[in-house]
Amino acid sequence: MTPATRAERSCPKCGAANATEARFCSQCATSLVPRSCASCSQALAHDAKFCGQCGAPVVA
Ligand SMILES: [Zn+2]
Ligand SMILES: [Zn+2]
Repeated sequence: MTPATRAERSCPKCGAANATEARFCSQCATSLVPRSCASCSQALAHDAKFCGQCGAPVVA
């Protein structure tokens, strides 16, 4: 059967396929949802620990 209606989200770190609603990779626990800085709303890289725009620490 072809799961036509079931999209998957591949992990940016390990490439594992995860359900689109998954927030973290089932294989390596990398966050799958785009994050933004709480201070300036700049989009953050999935593995960023500090905001590239304002330097605020990223809260996991
Ligand atoms: Zn992964
Ligand atoms: Zn920021």
